[in-house]
Amino acid sequence: MNKGLLIILSGPSGVGKGTVRKKIMEDESLNLVYSISMTTRAPRNKEVDGEDYYFVTQEEFQRNLDNNNLLEHCEFVGNRYGTPKDKVEKLREEGKNVFLEIEVNGANQVLSKVNDNGVISIFLMPPSLKTLEDRIRKRKSESDDIIKERLQKGRSEMKLKSNYEYVVVNRRVEDAAREIASIIRARMK
Ligand code: 5GP
Repeated sequence: MNKGLLIILSGPSGVGKGTVRKKIMEDESLNLVYSISMTTRAPRNKEVDGEDYYFVTQEEFQRNLDNNNLLEHCEFVGNRYGTPKDKVEKLREEGKNVFLEIEVNGANQVLSKVNDNGVISIFLMPPSLKTLEDRIRKRKSESDDIIKERLQKGRSEMKLKSNYEYVVVNRRVEDAAREIASIIRARMK
């Protein structure tokens, strides 16, 4: 059995990574498993612990970091996020294609640590900065200051797109998902 792929989907907060990811995951032929991240952020509406994220305390997060349990980690607008390490490796060994949906600093860490040819890096772009702002505001889950900070961060994150093998523009979720699915399928051969 071949080792599974490691797919890194990154891009600015609010670009729609989560929605596109959920659409791609519906295609069972891609043999994907989503790597659930750990975060100290509070759950948003409808988010489920152990499905969307593992919601943990600062202490738990720090313990995982100290014990070297995280493949990568970052601080994003006052909260910490990280990818549990053991599962990623184990699932790939089992032949599963592991899907990471992470911000740009974390993506860089993974790219510098894991450099086998099963790694695929994809940057998801908004059609414009205005679309990004509208999407972040529509969530209505955050204060104006946090929204501004996320937008500011989004602008600097966009400059890093040349670090990625593929850049996909998220005009329509279905189209972006189809494009990413075909990138993955081409590498499964
Ligand atoms: P949100 O708070 O909107 O769920 O996530 C904020 C940002 O952190 C998003 O860009 C999201 O993709 C990213 N993120 C989520 N989990 C992880 C992770 O485990 N590691 C890193 N580096 N970024 C993450």
